[in-house]
Amino acid sequence: MSYKLRGHKLLHHQNEIKNWQDKKMFPPVFIEFGPVGGCNHRCVHCYVQNILNTPPEMMEPDVYLRFMREIGDYGVKAIVLAGVGEPLLHRTTPRAVETAVEHGTDVGMLSNGIPLTEKNIPTLLDNLTYIRFTVNGSNKINYAKTHQTSENDWDKLLKNLDMIANYKKKSKSKCTIGIYTVLFENNLPDLLKWVKHVKSLGLDYIIAKPPNVRMDNVKMFEQLKYEKNQETLEEIKNLTSENFHVELREDLFNDAQTTKKYSECLGLPFMCAVDSDGSIYTCNWYWREKKYLYGNLKNSTFKEIWESDQKKKVLEYVGNPDSGFDIKKCGACRQDNINLFLEGLKYGRVNPGEPEGEKPKHINFL
Ligand code: SF4
Repeated sequence: MSYKLRGHKLLHHQNEIKNWQDKKMFPPVFIEFGPVGGCNHRCVHCYVQNILNTPPEMMEPDVYLRFMREIGDYGVKAIVLAGVGEPLLHRTTPRAVETAVEHGTDVGMLSNGIPLTEKNIPTLLDNLTYIRFTVNGSNKINYAKTHQTSENDWDKLLKNLDMIANYKKKSKSKCTIGIYTVLFENNLPDLLKWVKHVKSLGLDYIIAKPPNVRMDNVKMFEQLKYEKNQETLEEIKNLTSENFHVELREDLFNDAQTTKKYSECLGLPFMCAVDSDGSIYTCNWYWREKKYLYGNLKNSTFKEIWESDQKKKVLEYVGNPDSGFDIKKCGACRQDNINLFLEGLKYGRVNPGEPEGEKPKHINFL
């Protein structure tokens, strides 16, 4: 079964597509959520490093747990714990994951893996749909340099990956475990060794890709050229096997992310982004920007905010070509494929028919 780690899975949500076409209100299918507004690392390319707080801002535990209950009761199908920081720095996170699952929402998590412990692994692996570790290095030296951390963290990471892989084997947990490695010139020489190590642990997949770019920070770092590194990149792809998948994002090399292939952001009714202070935004490119703020969980329930006039106003701002909203300022975003599809649907270029072929895993994570 495929993970469909690129493209989108919206076609598996026909009721929501119909509601969108009929302009009816419906709960978002998917939420990106950062319970912690800070991180123990400072990756050089991290798009939120300017807004990371030290010490990290933590969502209040009672708001955190109430939110996780509310979304399931409202009908939100999936949430990924990621956002502006490291979700495992929050002590309530394992219990919050369990709570969301009990209330019917699938939960995924992105983590750098350092705060993982023997104690929190069972709750996480018994409840999460997937966990994906961000490892932007292929050895101790380049890892520490890119994550701007100590080389000891590399040893800790390897130990924690071992521990989680062993728990998965022992418990027969269904949680998918993946690795996400952003490629830079300095981690290419040991890349093959790193991917072989990940495979040897029995993890499910690795995604290898160039760094994300925003339209306004394209020159922040040197983009890797695919052709120049083709041999190494092809070699890692060849490690794909029946139980291990290498997702090499060839489509994102050579500045491919700097052009938007659509002109309207139509996908906002299907997802949103929630910050550690309880603020709910349109998406993860506009953290902490008031123009994109729907409301705050401290004062209202998720449903109240989602169905509020304030959210309607923000959508009108994004949807009105004369409002000042400029889609060209948005970076490569999670909604790109969905927006492209919805624009095609709006203008009759594609139809919303049932998806063909094998059903991918994790369809609720759009
Ligand atoms: S197109 Fe812009 S507003 Fe729409 S989801 Fe992407 S970044 Fe957000």
